[in-house]
Amino acid sequence: MKRVFSALICHETHGFNKLPTTLEKFQDMDYVEGDTIKECAVGDNGWTGVYKVAREQNWELVHPISTSTMPSGPSTRETFEHLWGVAEESLRKDGPFDGIIWQMHGGMMCEHLDDPEGEIIKRTRAIVGNDIPIAIALDIHGNISPDMVKLSDIICGFHTTPHVDVADTCFRAARLLQRTMSGEIKPVTYSVHPPVLVGIDHGRTTREDCPIPTMLRRFKKLQADDPDLLDISFFSGFPFCDTSATRASAMLVVNGTDPRFDGVIQEFGDEIWNTRDQVTIDFVTMDESIDQALAPSDKKGPFLIGDYTDTPHGGSYGDVISMLKKLIERDVKNAAFGPVWDSVAVSKALKEGPGANIDIALGGHCDPTHGGGPLQTKALVKAVSEKGIFEHKGPFSHGLPGELGPSAWIEVQGVDVIIIDRPDAIYDREQFRIFGINPEDKDVLVIKAYNHFRADFEPIGRGLLYTDSGGIFSFDFKRFDYKKVRRPIWPLDQFEREEGVTDYARTSKS
Ligand SMILES: [Zn+2]
Repeated sequence: MKRVFSALICHETHGFNKLPTTLEKFQDMDYVEGDTIKECAVGDNGWTGVYKVAREQNWELVHPISTSTMPSGPSTRETFEHLWGVAEESLRKDGPFDGIIWQMHGGMMCEHLDDPEGEIIKRTRAIVGNDIPIAIALDIHGNISPDMVKLSDIICGFHTTPHVDVADTCFRAARLLQRTMSGEIKPVTYSVHPPVLVGIDHGRTTREDCPIPTMLRRFKKLQADDPDLLDISFFSGFPFCDTSATRASAMLVVNGTDPRFDGVIQEFGDEIWNTRDQVTIDFVTMDESIDQALAPSDKKGPFLIGDYTDTPHGGSYGDVISMLKKLIERDVKNAAFGPVWDSVAVSKALKEGPGANIDIALGGHCDPTHGGGPLQTKALVKAVSEKGIFEHKGPFSHGLPGELGPSAWIEVQGVDVIIIDRPDAIYDREQFRIFGINPEDKDVLVIKAYNHFRADFEPIGRGLLYTDSGGIFSFDFKRFDYKKVRRPIWPLDQFEREEGVTDYARTSKS
């Protein structure tokens, strides 16, 4: 019987978000300490994948911590050291182990560490030594560091965005770990990191001709003739982490070492470089999005505008109101906008109640250099909610309870605005309906979201465009003051790529 250590510490960090992420944010969102993997292994999550193999192979599984939270700013030192401390204690007292499996993101940053995932693997190695196999399961939006590659034996990333193969990714990693522990294979990781800040269509796999599905099909063909090709993953990179590891990459897990593997990984590295400007979403200016929304159309339903650069699901603040200012300036009728994070405005609305006219300085508080400052305005309170409780009725998280928290519907110079007292996104029509707004009846909906809202809103929309309102999830990367990203890198610099550069490659232990 194999004894396996498994743990999950996950955070996608927006390095340009100035608000630190604290332990409470993890504890409020998703924090399970102790060996509860059996109960948590339900649905598409990493526990399910690990637990499936554990049960199949009769592992003695030790799983001391599982925690993640919404994308946000860098974690504090205290937060990281607490989370690591729980894992460390178990690594020291519950061993010896035959194998280790870590679930992480790959795009985490802390105030004292640029590469927390690499640090976790380094510290794990220091405890268990060099002979115990370590497997890592990662998000497709990770930045892969030298320590992660050199100190682990198996790295598997998601193959899909939207991420619908979380359990399967951990299953792949756990299966390879089992084969390693049983002596069947001797895995080695080969990686390539082309100078692309974010690539492979930002990890999207919504169309068969996206780079990732195309490369996966090619890998499957190669694998059919070469069983030593064990697994492949592609990472888009997370461009809002300003670190030396930030960039796209491909990761090959093979059995043993051989020069032919260098050729395979290099081929995929070239593909990441060659498809660097291939994206399947159109981005337009704020005025262009409104022009389209106001254009005559035979179709019914609201025109949808994704205010994606300020989506908290990408680590933004959720308080940029430049699109609201634009809706007012362009005199757009029957429009709704939100949600805007403004705790002061929410508490005023809750205190004064429906029917009150309140004076507010709405939004733009967190970082006026990205998206502008507040809008000083009068607002009519239309409806309030102490908890903002709703039930997901759309396909995303269908049937699960949701909570926007203290929130309100206010009317600002003719535009309906949802305000909330913590950063969150809108992705279900119920989040409008709880206030009495019927989203189908609006002409224009401007929503702070990027991907998930499409599932419930696209069926009622007569069109969808994404616009850059100046928030920190912008793909106009020249707006950010990068200091640590290795240069040159596309699209920040103009340069010719040096062929045959395969950095961080190899990691066999003997
Ligand atoms: Zn992701």
